[in-house]
Amino acid sequence: MAPPLEAPSDAPSALPAAEEKARVTEAVAAVAAELNARGEKAGGSAQDVLEAQAMMAEDPTLEESVGAKIDAGATAEHAVHTAFAEFAEQLAAIGGYLGERAADLGDVAQRVIAHLRGVAAPGVPDPGHPFVLVATDLAPADTALLDLDQVLAVVTTEGGPTSHTAILAREKGIVAVVGTGSADLADGQTVIVDAADGVVVADPTDEQLAAAAERAEARKAAAAAPITPGALADGTEIPLLANLGSPEGAADAVALGAEGVGLFRTEFLFLSSEEAPSVESQKASYAKLLAAFPGRKVVVRVLDAGADKPLPFLTDEGEENPALGRRGIRALRNRENVLRDQLTALAQADAESDADLWVMAPMVATVEETAYFTALAKELGLRTTGVMVEVPAAAILADRVLQVADFASIGTNDLVQYTMAADRLLGTVANLQSPWHPAALRLIQMVGEGGSANGKPVGVCGEAAADPLLAVVLAGLGVTSLSMSPSALADVRAELKLHTADDARRMAEAALAASDAAGAQAAARSAA
Ligand code: PEP
Ligand code: MG
Repeated sequence: MAPPLEAPSDAPSALPAAEEKARVTEAVAAVAAELNARGEKAGGSAQDVLEAQAMMAEDPTLEESVGAKIDAGATAEHAVHTAFAEFAEQLAAIGGYLGERAADLGDVAQRVIAHLRGVAAPGVPDPGHPFVLVATDLAPADTALLDLDQVLAVVTTEGGPTSHTAILAREKGIVAVVGTGSADLADGQTVIVDAADGVVVADPTDEQLAAAAERAEARKAAAAAPITPGALADGTEIPLLANLGSPEGAADAVALGAEGVGLFRTEFLFLSSEEAPSVESQKASYAKLLAAFPGRKVVVRVLDAGADKPLPFLTDEGEENPALGRRGIRALRNRENVLRDQLTALAQADAESDADLWVMAPMVATVEETAYFTALAKELGLRTTGVMVEVPAAAILADRVLQVADFASIGTNDLVQYTMAADRLLGTVANLQSPWHPAALRLIQMVGEGGSANGKPVGVCGEAAADPLLAVVLAGLGVTSLSMSPSALADVRAELKLHTADDARRMAEAALAASDAAGAQAAARSAA
């Protein structure tokens, strides 16, 4: 992929300041218009991402900062380069979700500078034949418009699992391995990109190639197979549900066979809001979501603010360890009016819809928090109220938690993070973050047992549910439904069909008996 543009020189401008500023205004407007146009073409959440980038390009604070640098003698190119870099640095220092947006800003700066220079923006090459795209990081603008007939797979050395690149790639069903750390690959080299295991194999042997081709064929067959309800080979039903972040994703999810929604992340609707959203505006969003799933289960999670998803109206500033701070249900409890408004909006939308609305609270750690949330939700008119199990304490006491809650949904992303004490956004501890780790599997088993002891359903809505083999193991651990990004539904559906409930239990036993994640995965595979 084309390397970034050379940094502009810091020699003083020969043009009058007003002229330099006019050049910037024109270039920024052109780049914003291009991003918006690309967004419109791409649709879906790609459009949201690109429109957000266009807005960033036209941010008045940035414009002011660029203007000040030009007034001090800088060229338009240099002023854009430094002002955008400073802004990106500020975002990176905040870290978490905003930190990951810093890469987006660098991309916008490159586009503006390319426009000022009258050269093509750096971007995806076009070698004229299908290829694997290897890049340091991929801009959302490029990811959104990748030509799926040409780009066989994407490998990036930087970026985390929650970067926009990863989110968009997953949504488009692109085979992608992000954040490899390094990629010693040359143009023309043959590689296998194994997104399921997160590895890139350079110069594979014939055997490795044949095995990869077989897996690719199986994937294609799974995608083309008729859409049936999720079930094991013996007919045991395991409903397959969608994870969504906005009502706009609903139509695609239905088309891919989602039997309902297992996790609607409401905080994604309000990430840029300074103030708590009104009951009316929330009700409109929820009504739109529910309308897409008549007669179906729709599990909505109340706002999960904090850590990598700070919301100004809920999140305490300056916590030293925000992942261990007042986040999720703790933050909502601290501002109960926000929680009451959200539950009221949900109850109102529910009253006018045919969907089967379930609500759940994030980051619940205790039975007392479970009782608090479920009682309040019931008081405000919601019928089915449950909790996410993402904190080891809630898993260990799942038998008690599920005496109180109507259901539990296991958030494996956070459950693994807290079980292993390994930040889920941090590449340096990624080796500890596998949901295959038997320590995590034992906790999941406890939740499954808590569900069956109380006759209550237990779902999984973390990324683990999207791993086909692990999905079978989860069923064997007592999980009764699986929720995932819609692009993963076909693969999981196909794998479930290959194993009976007895097989699943045997695979789960084998995985539980292992000492580490790799061992658990291997044991499950050989017990299959
Ligand atoms: C999880 O933690 O697994 C989960 C589903 O919630 P989120 O990824 O939004 O934290
Ligand atoms: Mg979570």
